[in-house]
Amino acid sequence: MADASDSVSGSEDEFNSPESPGPSTLRQSNKSTRKDSGAAKYRSKFSTAWKKQYPFINEVRTDKHSFYCTICKHNVKYGHMGLSDVQQHLTTSMHQRYAKTEIAKNYSSRRTKTACIINGTVAPFFQQSLVEHAKNNPFSIAIDGSSDNALEKINPLTVRIFYVNRGNVYTQFLDMCMSSSSTAEGIFSKMEDAFTTHDVSWNNCVGLGVDNTSVNMGCRNSIKTRVLEKNPAIYIMGCPCHTIRH
Ligand SMILES: [Zn+2]
Repeated sequence: MADASDSVSGSEDEFNSPESPGPSTLRQSNKSTRKDSGAAKYRSKFSTAWKKQYPFINEVRTDKHSFYCTICKHNVKYGHMGLSDVQQHLTTSMHQRYAKTEIAKNYSSRRTKTACIINGTVAPFFQQSLVEHAKNNPFSIAIDGSSDNALEKINPLTVRIFYVNRGNVYTQFLDMCMSSSSTAEGIFSKMEDAFTTHDVSWNNCVGLGVDNTSVNMGCRNSIKTRVLEKNPAIYIMGCPCHTIRH
């Protein structure tokens, strides 16, 4: 719906097709020809030459004093300025809203480029934001290993943390913890590497969530025992979903 700033040189009709005479057009055709007298009769008419400069405008067959904008899909009435009316329409907030959407639609990026953007720009930004937050606030972590047969297993390490500014708890990815060993020692050394690399203290960690295997939850030689050596106050919880399933 157009707002006040959308009306510049003329009113922008609500109907969206140049072919279909909307209610306002029907109303106009039923009225007397008084509106065609005086200043109104000097209204500009569509010129096909304008399409060279603005190929996105079309003629409206039912109204010679309007043009149809294919970007914002609105009929726009000319004032008395002709081509300047088209130029003015481009500055309206309604047209610009749709134009921005068109730019977003036309953005294309294949898998390699998208991966580069995410890995090189987006991920470091969010990771750094998480790290800065984890340095100064309590958080809990969760880790789980993959069961694929690759040489290195992935053990995604996530952080659950409360963001004061956003007033909510978020779970974010911190590190992939690639490990060639599936032992508690091997996996924990990668967790510790992640903490050391990002200079995050175990003292801020208040909880650990893992599933219930002995590697994770064993009493003597597990990730649990190693984490408690770092900070005995960390609350460690096995995965209730695994418990229910078994
Ligand atoms: Zn437009």
